[in-house]
Amino acid sequence: MKQVRKRKGKVYLVGAGPGDVGLITLRGVELLKAADCVIYDRLVNPAVLRYVREEAEIIYTPKRTGAETFKQERINELLVQKAAEVETVVRLKGGDPCIFGRGTEEAAALAEAGVDFEIVPGITAGIAAAEYAGIILSDRRYSSQVVFVTGREAEDKGQSGIDWKWLAKFDGTIVFYMGVGNLGFIAERLIENGMSEDKPAAVISEATLPSQKVVRSSLEALPGESRAAGIQPPAIIIIGEAARGDLRLDWFESKALFGQRIVVTRDGTGNLDFAAKINKRGGAAVCFETIFIKPSTSSSQFLKAVSQLSEYDWIVFTSAKGVRIFFDWLCSLGKDGRVFGSARMAVIGNRTAEKLAEFGIKADFVPGSFTSSQLGKGLLGFANREGRKMLLLRSEQASAELAEILQKGGAEVTETSVYTVEPRRSDADSLKDKIKSNEIDWVTFASPSSVRSFFDQVDKDLIDSSEVKVASIGPVTSGQLKTLGVKVDLEASVHNIEGLLEGIESFVKPDGVSK
Ligand code: SAH
Repeated sequence: MKQVRKRKGKVYLVGAGPGDVGLITLRGVELLKAADCVIYDRLVNPAVLRYVREEAEIIYTPKRTGAETFKQERINELLVQKAAEVETVVRLKGGDPCIFGRGTEEAAALAEAGVDFEIVPGITAGIAAAEYAGIILSDRRYSSQVVFVTGREAEDKGQSGIDWKWLAKFDGTIVFYMGVGNLGFIAERLIENGMSEDKPAAVISEATLPSQKVVRSSLEALPGESRAAGIQPPAIIIIGEAARGDLRLDWFESKALFGQRIVVTRDGTGNLDFAAKINKRGGAAVCFETIFIKPSTSSSQFLKAVSQLSEYDWIVFTSAKGVRIFFDWLCSLGKDGRVFGSARMAVIGNRTAEKLAEFGIKADFVPGSFTSSQLGKGLLGFANREGRKMLLLRSEQASAELAEILQKGGAEVTETSVYTVEPRRSDADSLKDKIKSNEIDWVTFASPSSVRSFFDQVDKDLIDSSEVKVASIGPVTSGQLKTLGVKVDLEASVHNIEGLLEGIESFVKPDGVSK
């Protein structure tokens, strides 16, 4: 008799990719966005959960570590149960869901219970690890065949499903998953069965992540060298001529910030943007929010100042954030840039100009340098010709310098805040632990308010006594750091996020040997 389906839901067995968040498929992201419930494994990079809706339920099912251990049967039951409760269940698994991923058991359990399911393939660790180490698995010069082997079964020495004799003679590339703990045993078995001790081999741990490590060696020496390098799971072992590698192909580890662990201390959105730029350069961003941006567009002061926008000669924005918040407010009223009438626009920084351009407005004046005094002086030069009634739309905490310069130069200035910056507390204990255990290379600061809030939460002595280097975006931020007695290791010469990153890059690789 055909089983009657209890309900409704569908389960998607989705591969999350090997580690780097960018390596999940488009289909995977689409499903995460639609999911009502996401059930994920230990090897999934939790950063991909950023795509999940806030209302969705997220369940973590580690199999081995932690207090709660999920047995496979329990996970199978959970999938069936959740499918009865909600419409879209995403079962997220590291790499590809079915390559050594027990996808078979989960799919079979769903089929058995009459639950609809789909399988969304992912990039498996074996392929990604090889490519991120510059190893071409099917290099046509030596390898017409590639084989994926589980190193876990090797544990079960008595009844292994691995044909060591066959594998030792295999003329191609062998990729072992789950083999680090058994590396000595694997090498021994292969050599004992006739493989050359000198066969090139490599182990790649935490592949595709900024913490990736690669050890290349002969088969015989690999276990010792891997131990000496402190290789820990998860790692992939590659054996065969292809593993000899070609350092010219080592594109990932030669990225400018590879291996650098950098704390970013802006507000939530600012940190996400900064972190993405760090990741692109091969570094690892650690987000620590120190501030929170609160729009002040409902204050009476703001509403009064903007009630007659078209009467000003100049409207001045000094940050992209200010532009975004201002236009959010304008949109909420159902209005657009036409409210400015013939008023001209001046901004500090290309980012601010770009933000304004997103709303269809071209800035009339963008000073070459990023400081208030440059903007002030330059604007006065222009204003002689274009009129002198000015509205400054800035942050509550902005310094008085710009308004003073303009007023001294004879401008009629109205100042109002578009947003205010408030301190925010983050998980300082976890950050302190990372600093103590030498897991942080840099702490970066992009504003004086971030500096104040950070050092309210993290003791300056901890930074002083560690290997951590402090990088500042410019003189005002450095000034705040120095006031608190913090040593500034690096000040960006161009005062924006790119400038800060370039500063760190040349500090790390002064000879500029990077891609
Ligand atoms: N389904 C997964 C594999 C799960 S088995 C996939 O397709 O990738 C777990 C093994 O995968 C680990 O023991 C390790 O060998 C490998 N692995 C997973 N992520 C890895 C990573 N980022 N770097 C190196 N190996 C990884």
